[in-house]
This record gives sequence, C-alpha cells and structure tokens, in this order.
Amino acid sequence: MNKREFIKNLGLGSAAVLGAPILFQSCESENPEDFKLWIWTGGGEKSEADWDKEFEGLKQLGFYGVLVGGGKPVLEKAIPAAQKHDLEIHAWQWTMNRPGDKTAKEHPEWYAVSREGNSSYDVRPYVDYYQWLCPTKPEVQEFVYNGMMEVTELEGLNGVQLDYVRYCDVILPKGLWSKYDLVQDHEMPEFDFCYCEDCRTKFKGEQGYDPLDLEDPSKDEKWRQFRLDSITNLVNKIADGVHQKGKKLSASVFATPSLARMMVRQDWDKWNLDFVFPMIYYKFYDEDIDFMKRATEEGLNDLNGSKPLYTAFYLADKNEEEVLEAVKLVKDTKANGMAFYDYGLLNESFQKTITEALKG
Ligand SMILES: [Zn+2]
Repeated sequence: MNKREFIKNLGLGSAAVLGAPILFQSCESENPEDFKLWIWTGGGEKSEADWDKEFEGLKQLGFYGVLVGGGKPVLEKAIPAAQKHDLEIHAWQWTMNRPGDKTAKEHPEWYAVSREGNSSYDVRPYVDYYQWLCPTKPEVQEFVYNGMMEVTELEGLNGVQLDYVRYCDVILPKGLWSKYDLVQDHEMPEFDFCYCEDCRTKFKGEQGYDPLDLEDPSKDEKWRQFRLDSITNLVNKIADGVHQKGKKLSASVFATPSLARMMVRQDWDKWNLDFVFPMIYYKFYDEDIDFMKRATEEGLNDLNGSKPLYTAFYLADKNEEEVLEAVKLVKDTKANGMAFYDYGLLNESFQKTITEALKG
C-alpha cells in the first residue's frame, strides 16, 4: 500500500468508526491521478522486450497497475518491465477452479461434489473449463495456499490477485441463462456444491445434521453460511501468508456482495483483502449500463471504507460510447478506480476513449 492509499484507508476506515466520516473526504477520488487504472494481461509467448513495450504504453495511458496471468515463468519476464515503467504488478491466480491442473489431477478426491453426487473431476458443470476443488478439505487448502506462496517469492512482485475464488455458480448471471438453456430461479442440484464426505461430516459435527437429509438444502441458512465461511477462511489464510511476505492480496469477485453470496457463495466484503475488483459485467447480468454505478455503490457501501474498490469492466462486446459511459459512471462514484479485462481487447480506439473519459 502506498502512502496515499494508506492515508485514504485510515481516513475512510478509522474515521468512519470514530463517527467522523468526513475527516479525510478531500482524499477521495476527485482527480484523475487518484482514480487508478488496472488491466488484466498475460501471454506466455511474450518476450521481455514485448513486456517492456506493452508496459511503456500502459504507463503513458495513465495505468497504475497490471494483473498478470500465466504464473512464475511469465511473471519473471514481466516484472522487470513493470518495475522499469513504475507499474504495480500482481500475479493473477486462479484459485478454486483448476481445469486440467497437473497436481490436482493426481488427487481426484480433492474435487467438489454436487448435490447430485457427481464430482467436478468427472462432470464439469456448464463448460469444459469448470473443474472445481473443495475449499473445505485441508489438503486442498494447503495446495492452494502453497501455490500462492510460491509466486510471492518473486522479487519485485507487489501482490497476488485471486480469481475464481468461489464455488461453481449455483445461479448463473441472468444474461447467461439462455446460453445454457436454463431458468435458474432456484438452486439446481447439478450446480450446487460441495456435498463431499468431508464437507458433510464437518457440517454435521458442527450443526448435528447432514445437509443431504434436508428436504431443500438451498433453504438452510446454516448450510449456506458454512460454505460462505469455507471460502472466507481460505482467503483469510492466504491473506495472512501473503501479508507476511510483505505483499498485497486482492480478488476479482462477482458484481455486488449480495449477488456474489447468492450466486457463487462469495462473502467478499468480509475478506481480509487489500483491495477488491468487483466484476461489474453488466451485460452478463442482463442489466443496463447504469448497473456500473449502482453495483459499484452497493459494494462501496457494504465495504464501508474498509478497503479500496476498483470496478472491473469487460471490454468485449462493447462500443466506444459504452466504454465512455462506463468510465464516466464509475468516476461519478467514490470508487478508487477501474480495472479492464483485458489487454488483448484494449484497442487504440478504446485507449483514446478511456483517456478522454478520465479527462472529462
Ligand atoms: Zn467438499
């Protein structure tokens, strides 16, 4: 956390608790300098010279940080370029969804099990790249934790950004229902996880009943909370480790805390993150563009100043007017900035649009 962010956190966080929420109001994002831009990028084929050129361009456009996927080999090439151009660089890491993961594949018992009794190891819900691990199993927690710790060893890396840090979507965003020919106005057993022996035994030990014995497990508050907590506990464990290494932890999460809890069992406003990227991909939610503002404000309200929020925007399937409007809508909130998905979609025209929107 840099000094400016620290001051801002202190102001919004502790002042609000002390009942003086306006103390540091002047620090909130009033100028473009304070409205930080992030972008997801990656690419195993890129050379150090490619990264240098890419990051030089992003810096010129006013970007603040990059979220780089591909793990250690890619990061090793990208970090020197990020340092040279004074960009924050965070490792973009997939967390619970591990399609084709070599180590995980050796442990079929690590995968999440649906209410129907199918393991995500064999039966992939919705799409072929969905293969989810169970967050409750100590072996899985250790595996995920160790993977995150491994990247924190990289000299010059500023932090870790968790993606897919959740359960499989028990309810898909509404705009995607037709794509899968589904009407998900209730939790369907084939998309409802995790009912493995470990989860059920642990839950029964705590609450005295097996979720599978319930007539409708989706209506049971304690069972719902158990799964929310299972992800929260893992995130907070990773946070402790990442912070011990002197690095930051963030996550990309579903659009608002209430939608995230309902759809993917993410209790993200409770996580010990340094900042958060709600993915307000409004078209997926079958919402209009004003959702960029409404969802951002809901997240900010629920976080109550505990950490910076950067609204994530999906560049695919958008035109210039939509990009312009989205940036203006988010700038009109107290969000700390925006993150764009992804570099491959950031064409020259969008670059110009974003720069203009920030000025205006
Ligand atoms: Zn489980």
